[in-house]
Amino acid sequence: MVITCPKCQHTNDAATGKPMETCPQCGVIYARAALAQAQQRQAETVRSRVRAAAPEANAPGFVERVGWYLCLSGAVLAGVELAWTFAKAESAPQQAAGAALALGLAAIPYCFARALQMLMRR
Ligand SMILES: [Zn+2]
Repeated sequence: MVITCPKCQHTNDAATGKPMETCPQCGVIYARAALAQAQQRQAETVRSRVRAAAPEANAPGFVERVGWYLCLSGAVLAGVELAWTFAKAESAPQQAAGAALALGLAAIPYCFARALQMLMRR
């Protein structure tokens, strides 16, 4: 029987095919070297599949990004509104109205963005 060593490529014309047979050239056990090579190929396949799948699984789509930009601008507006309210409001009802408006400016775009994100989920 002829076996070509998976490690050193030596061709053994006098191979027996026994499970623990070793290569006369480099001393590796044929079965173990073949298994290691198969595992390496399998690991490489898994890595390439993960690499191929990851970007589209993790990156937000266009609609999701629009939602999150709206959320960001809502948060900035809410901060400005809150600062303006506490700097300029002349009464407690004015402060309360300003704070409520700021809360709405921050919360509504956030809910909108979260809803879009969930709806766009694959
Ligand atoms: Zn060998």
